[in-house]
Amino acid sequence: MPFCSTDVPRWQMFAADALMTHPGDIIAHAGMAVEHGRIMAVGPVDQLRSRFPEMAEQHFPGHILCPGFVNAHTHLELSFLRGKIPGPIAFPDWVLQLFAEMPQSSDAADVITNAVKNGVAECMRFGVTTVGDITRWPEFTRSALAGGPLRVVSFGEITALGKRRDFLQARLNAALNNQAAGEYVSIGVSPHAPYSVEGPALQQVVTAAESHQVPLAMHLAENIEEGAFLATLDGPLGRSWPFMQKLDILDEHVPRFVGGPIRWGRQYGLLADKNLKNKAGLRAIPIVLAHVNYADDAELKILADSGASVAWCPRTHTYFGHHRRGEHPWQKMLERSIPVCLATDSLASNPDLSLLHEARHVWQCHPQISPVVLMEMITTRPAQALGLSEHIGRLAAGFSADAVLLPLDPSTGTDSAAICAAMVHIAPEPAAVWVMGRQVK
Ligand SMILES: [Zn+2]
Repeated sequence: MPFCSTDVPRWQMFAADALMTHPGDIIAHAGMAVEHGRIMAVGPVDQLRSRFPEMAEQHFPGHILCPGFVNAHTHLELSFLRGKIPGPIAFPDWVLQLFAEMPQSSDAADVITNAVKNGVAECMRFGVTTVGDITRWPEFTRSALAGGPLRVVSFGEITALGKRRDFLQARLNAALNNQAAGEYVSIGVSPHAPYSVEGPALQQVVTAAESHQVPLAMHLAENIEEGAFLATLDGPLGRSWPFMQKLDILDEHVPRFVGGPIRWGRQYGLLADKNLKNKAGLRAIPIVLAHVNYADDAELKILADSGASVAWCPRTHTYFGHHRRGEHPWQKMLERSIPVCLATDSLASNPDLSLLHEARHVWQCHPQISPVVLMEMITTRPAQALGLSEHIGRLAAGFSADAVLLPLDPSTGTDSAAICAAMVHIAPEPAAVWVMGRQVK
């Protein structure tokens, strides 16, 4: 994805009471010098002024400049469903309601395009400058996103199960279509979930993603019933599900698998051991697993060995009542160095697309978590999950000037833990937002 920009002033300097290069590193009275949307230098304002004396400067007292927030898992096209399906609700029932609300094919282009635009506006409002966006309608969403202002990794969604397994190639082609790729949009693929993509199809999608070197996202271990479905094709996500009965796609050729969705993912190449892959000379692609609400110790080891990232969606976790079956294993994931980030999922299961609200929700439920880690979960970690860790998620030389300006009480001081705690506790709306040096709010 190119990150240069031509319609912003060639030189710009932004300065504030503090600048967060990343959540563990905050510089007092600092700024960033930007050329064509890319950061040339960050540091104390006095140093920048003497190094770049001719540069036009915007100064923001009472504020801190932070990296733009990164949402590794959402579905912008579902933004028309905000508040339409009240929670808490069981996941299988939610899917039934979701599909009842879907637009008819004659309306789909307008409904989906408007939903994407509203979702983008919501991201801008809350300082989210990059998203990993899952789309069933890449032909509509990507053209709506191509002109910005949001940076998007657009994961084309693929379902291929039972009697519909032959749809695989057409869906894969649509997902891999890169006509809309450019300054703002890059493409990825998203095999949907263990109850909508059968194992051999998953293997083909992984192989295609590796050969095209594009990132891959998948809903995995979101529901505890996935294991029963894989083993027997039965249960609340299988033959007992009115949605599956209506689809009428299960047949005797769907392979059964005993051992749960994470071992299934390993079996079909999604969660291969990263060291074995490296030894075989295969280049790893970024893999984002949405949710992973259920994982035991052995499964966590498989995840850790794979190098895949986890997009934990805490408010959606609550909306579907997963907390009643136990806590999300985020803490064990952190202990095992599994890259965990925070994400919102869609407005069909979450009240808004604010990552700071997501972080505040986590902190309210788990006050022992470090606020620095929480801020990493919405900046550096999701940037890594999407394969963009050399471009976004930090304010540092060589990175894109994707930044948010947040109010900062002077009494907070400049200690990174104190500032991150204030950000998470207050969850302020940004006063300004830039993507590639362009002000978008
Ligand atoms: Zn999702």
